[in-house]
Amino acid sequence: MKIGIFYAYWVHNWNVDFHPFIDKASDMGFDVLEVNAGTVANITRDERKSLKSHANDKGIDLSYVVGLQSQYDISSEDNSVRNAGINFLQQIAKSVGELGGGPVGGILYGSWPSTLPAGTTDKRPFVDRSILSMREAIKAAENNNVTFNMEVVNRFEQFIMNTCQEAIDYVNAVDSTHAKVMLDTFHMNIEEDFFKETIIRANDLLGHFHIGENNRMPPGYGHIPWTEIADALRKIKYQGYIVMEPFLMPGGEIGRDIKVFRNLARGLDIDEEARKALSFTRGILE
Ligand code: MN
Repeated sequence: MKIGIFYAYWVHNWNVDFHPFIDKASDMGFDVLEVNAGTVANITRDERKSLKSHANDKGIDLSYVVGLQSQYDISSEDNSVRNAGINFLQQIAKSVGELGGGPVGGILYGSWPSTLPAGTTDKRPFVDRSILSMREAIKAAENNNVTFNMEVVNRFEQFIMNTCQEAIDYVNAVDSTHAKVMLDTFHMNIEEDFFKETIIRANDLLGHFHIGENNRMPPGYGHIPWTEIADALRKIKYQGYIVMEPFLMPGGEIGRDIKVFRNLARGLDIDEEARKALSFTRGILE
């Protein structure tokens, strides 16, 4: 199984130059670097070409993640917002297609962060509008060798899907070979009954997997049951990437959006911590 790391571990803002992190990930022995899909969609074609050749030279695969901003919310009651979101997802699929395709994950089905509007108790109309929009957007994924992986996140960040079962139902309704479920151990720890059963439930619909501790420290620092998780991934013969997504540093857009309100790095050498987490992760997956 190929193991990756999210570039945001090292920075404070979402839009950055990814080149230094291709080198860093490669030097540390990672197989995959996960980058911001929104940035990739907004840079020039030449800049995308240069990212692709740099990653190829370094033997690094790229994966992509995004949480849609509210102006791109494909579950919106406002048709013009829904259409803007569909267009943005199509633009992401085309841009990632130029890089050879691959997995795009995150909150693709609605805006992030988001909650049900005041006075609303039934989320079904939001889910239904999102599914209709996704059926449209997913065609661009199909045409560009891209998978859209619906990340199940906790209730404090979104409401459309908080459990693996809700994601399975959504993906089945979208009905495309390029629509998949994405799980993240940090969110699973909050919402799911059991880790192993949840991963086995996703089975071959699992398209992308984020790992992180209960406190978003790198794997190995908290109480997530890694042996149980590794067993379940082996049992379903998971073939996708496993990307660690630790967040340690307060400050900037990322500190604010992820709600890092204390310094979890506590004087740690974060490069050394990433190396240790990679070795820990390879160890449990052996
Ligand atoms: Mn995640």
